[in-house]
Amino acid sequence: MNIEKKEQLYEGKAKKVYRTDNPDLLIVDYKDDATAFNGLKKGTITGKGVINNRMSNLLMQLLAKAGIPTHYVEELSERETVVKKVDIVPLEVIIRNISAGSFAKRYGVEEGIVFDEPVIEFSYKNDDLGDPLINAYHARALKLATAEEIETIKKYAFMVNEELKKFWDECGVTLVDFKLEFGKTSDGSIVLADEISPDTCRLWDKKTGEKLDKDRFRRDLGGVEDAYSEVMKRLLEHI
Ligand code: ADP
Ligand code: UDP
Repeated sequence: MNIEKKEQLYEGKAKKVYRTDNPDLLIVDYKDDATAFNGLKKGTITGKGVINNRMSNLLMQLLAKAGIPTHYVEELSERETVVKKVDIVPLEVIIRNISAGSFAKRYGVEEGIVFDEPVIEFSYKNDDLGDPLINAYHARALKLATAEEIETIKKYAFMVNEELKKFWDECGVTLVDFKLEFGKTSDGSIVLADEISPDTCRLWDKKTGEKLDKDRFRRDLGGVEDAYSEVMKRLLEHI
């Protein structure tokens, strides 16, 4: 693809974002930097950027085939991808199939409870406030999104869950929970943006229950790089 990388617009915790010569397109560049607990814990996961870039792109293409519009345009290199520029809806959309992480902590239950139906929750994407949990009424009151946009986001998020659950199951992996971000394109339509990777999903080995995601970093479990490689290997065998 003929595209020129211009100046850096933003450096986040896991990616850098660049302007391009096309006002509707951006280039994202995946880093090996890892953070947890709202940036309090910092580290490096060697090779993570390469894995997350590829994995996110492959999963977004899978989701596009299932009718979910995404920001993905084209992979440029090991770490760089061209995406549609969107206005990010400042909501972290979390889907949970099994209790874990902040859900288990907040409600005082153990991890590993399989829910009868998936749970959706929203956090207000605001680092200064620590991404507080909010509901759809809060989101509308704060004008983060319209009622119609929230309905679209919910519909797509559950569709993503069905597709990813099925796919990861074929890989021998249980999809426990994950976080999505959506954005609005220049024509106002809602698309799936940001990334889908072991940074943003909890993935447990179906047989052993071993954690194959960022919890290995968050909880100092060791074998972080190996877990990311293992999950990538399984994805490549089944995609
Ligand atoms: P954070 O901002 O949480 O530290 P990252 O390091 O992943 O996260 O930075 C990437 C930033 O780019 C995020 O703020 C994300 O919301 C934003 N983003 C992701 N996809 C797009 C897109 N298609 N258009 C515009 N911004 C995007
Ligand atoms: N998550 C994420 N970014 C965040 C918060 C959560 O990608 O800023 C993902 C996390 O990896 C997990 C899911 O969303 O797969 C649910 O996370 P949870 O609310 O349990 O929070 P955590 O345990 O990360 O505090």
